[in-house]
Amino acid sequence: MSDPIQKSGHLAHPVMPPPTPSRTQVPTLARTSARTSARPSARAFARTPPALEAAAGFGQWAHAEGWLSLSPQAAAFFDAQGRLEGPLDDGLTHVVMDDLVRLLPRLMARAGQPWQQDLRVISRTQGLRWLRMTALPADPEQPDLQQGIVQDVTELKHAQMRERLGFELTEFLVGSHSLGSAILNVIQGVCNSLGWDWGAYWALETDPAGQPQLACHQFWHPSEHDMSAFSQASQQLRLRPGEGLVGRVWQSGAATWVEDMATDPGFVRRASARASHLRSGYIFPVTFQSGDGSDHRPGVLEFYSSLARQPDAQLPQLSGTIGALLAQTAQKLEQQATVLHLSQVDGLTGLANRRHFYEVLGATCRQAEALGHKFGLMFIDLDRFKPINDAFGHDAGNTVLREFAQRLQALAPPGATAGRLGGDEFALLLPGADLQAFAETAERVRLAARRPMLHEGVELSLSASVGISLFPENGRTPPELLRSADDAMYRIKQNGRDGSDFFSQTNPHALAEQQNTLMQRLKMAQDLHLALQRQELFLHHQPIFDQTSGRLHGTEALVRWRRPDGQLVPPDVFIPLAEEAHLIVQIGQWVAAQACADLATLEAAGLQGLRVHVNMASPEFHRDTLPDELLALTRRHGLAPAQLSLELTETLVMEQPAQVTAVMGRLRAAGFEISLDDFGQGHSALSLLKQLPLNTLKVDRCFVRGLGEDVSDEAIVRTILDLGRHLGLRVIVEGVETAAQLKRVRACGGQFVQGYLLARPMPLGELLQRFTTPA
Ligand code: C2E
Ligand code: MG
Ligand code: MG
Repeated sequence: MSDPIQKSGHLAHPVMPPPTPSRTQVPTLARTSARTSARPSARAFARTPPALEAAAGFGQWAHAEGWLSLSPQAAAFFDAQGRLEGPLDDGLTHVVMDDLVRLLPRLMARAGQPWQQDLRVISRTQGLRWLRMTALPADPEQPDLQQGIVQDVTELKHAQMRERLGFELTEFLVGSHSLGSAILNVIQGVCNSLGWDWGAYWALETDPAGQPQLACHQFWHPSEHDMSAFSQASQQLRLRPGEGLVGRVWQSGAATWVEDMATDPGFVRRASARASHLRSGYIFPVTFQSGDGSDHRPGVLEFYSSLARQPDAQLPQLSGTIGALLAQTAQKLEQQATVLHLSQVDGLTGLANRRHFYEVLGATCRQAEALGHKFGLMFIDLDRFKPINDAFGHDAGNTVLREFAQRLQALAPPGATAGRLGGDEFALLLPGADLQAFAETAERVRLAARRPMLHEGVELSLSASVGISLFPENGRTPPELLRSADDAMYRIKQNGRDGSDFFSQTNPHALAEQQNTLMQRLKMAQDLHLALQRQELFLHHQPIFDQTSGRLHGTEALVRWRRPDGQLVPPDVFIPLAEEAHLIVQIGQWVAAQACADLATLEAAGLQGLRVHVNMASPEFHRDTLPDELLALTRRHGLAPAQLSLELTETLVMEQPAQVTAVMGRLRAAGFEISLDDFGQGHSALSLLKQLPLNTLKVDRCFVRGLGEDVSDEAIVRTILDLGRHLGLRVIVEGVETAAQLKRVRACGGQFVQGYLLARPMPLGELLQRFTTPA
């Protein structure tokens, strides 16, 4: 077709041909050879000189009755090879089918309201391009004629796409439980946004012989296409580095295009690609550099299309973005897994630590209760450990603990959990109800302890005392079972050590001890009832600092109980008791009221806009009236609800996530702030964390202890700070005791700090003295 614009470029007033009113709309693309006068002519576009169009970045189009006219710029956008007018589908040959299906009804409709549609064109020279077609308001004189402009918005789309992918990946980073699910989401996102028909991730792994190989771990394609042949062939294939296209891309680290797989002899899955109608593809490595500067290449991503696509100009850049973000995801997940692992494992021996062992024991009790199962608990204490430690030093002590832990792990029957409860105390959770088997295991434990251990050429010998308790006979909760097993062990110790026995109710020592503890607790619970009336409770405030400004950010209100005899009972002791005695709600109400009154005093003294953190216990959170009560309280003291931050622990949330989240939502709606206390200790799912209406995370102080000494603690703190940033949360690092720890917190980007180094919990008067300047 000749170029009519060239010829008609000098027309003074070119006009669209007058339309022929059509009575029936034919929503098909039937080619009609007979032309009618309603059809637009490309000459019309001569009104705008092509050079001006090109400079302004748009082309023009017009359509009537299945006849499409394009200006030269528009024809170039649609890759119409200079065909400036002709039947509709001639001009739109390269539009992606899904987009064409949405476009046609619009073009075939009578002109009327303006519209806009973005569509993808697979250009033979430029790969995938994005066009934006805009229909202008109809000319009442020519109601069958639609006309408008078309722009190339590829760059804009790419920028949006990269931003969206970046955002989505950050979302996956928090929401994904595995790299696999994150990758699958990425593959799907890329296929959908770039119009690929099949995408997959090949991961580098080792085969049973220890040799490296690449295997297709994840693939995705739109459900309407049958890709079973290609999917199956990909899943079955294993490629060595350097082998096949995937292997070569992994080895070279360079991205590659395949123009036509069906005819590419180097393409191993040629036949199945043909069967699944796949033709062109783009394969690129996932690479990243870790914090220590080393390069990683965990796998390869590949995308295929049923069209013969051309190299996509933006893909190299996109592949870099995807690779980097996936790598970041992988690193974060690894760190999260490390956080979880480290928080459950005893650093010295690798066994479950005390807290995790309690959790496992608690879960086992609940399950056994529900299913009517039985199990045993073994409490093990090493005899003569202290003398070894004293005589041969810490290293020798550590060798003994590590060696014994290994032996314990090795002899533990299948399904058993071994833990170190602290010092030289170990425990073994034994499934089943076979007392004979329990006794035999106890005997093996005893013998394992007696086998000499070598430390720097010195033979160390020790023994073990082992007590066993049974669920449900000797207890139904972790403390009861541990107490019983501990009693049985204690009896062995008293009878000369190096032995094992079951707990017996008739053990006079155990009974007396149990009764004694019970009486003490009863007495304390009674006293606690009176404590509120006798005003024995009082608050201390521990300052929280903002490191950026160096100023006081707020305080944490910590309750204290001084008994009439002057004894100060720590909250760790009386709060659990208050929960058991159903006093916690009353105490919580008193604490919140006092904290608000204290905050009002601070405001009056010129310390304005501070925040007071108040710890909440589980039963307080199960009351529907809580938000209204707290609102009344803040109102009474002239405080903004946001000045009150309620601290909850992960465990509290995990007990009843649905109910607690609902109350949290109402508190947030009322304007209160919510902090997750002791974060990192529990094991809440990160996806749940994302859903919680939180403002603040408080890093548990057990991770702060090792800062400056233990790299894994630093990795944990850094990860939690990162996580807070991703989720838009404030992060308070608790328990900073030394200047070295503070330095590391700052280096990790920590802004809010609480700890003995900066200030201990103190009475309100002292706080006022320290932070207000006398008038
Ligand atoms: P928490 O909420 O994690 O409070 C922080 C605890 O860490 C406080 O102990 C505080 O004195 C201590 N702490 C602060 N900085 C440092 C530090 O640098 N090093 C060390 N080793 N410790 C530091 P406290 O006051 O004994 O409170 C213990 C726990 O009792 C609190 O832990 C909280 O769970 C609970 N609690 C305290 N007051 C209340 C209350 O009013 N209601 C409820 N439900 N629980 C409370
Ligand atoms: Mg707290
Ligand atoms: Mg805390």
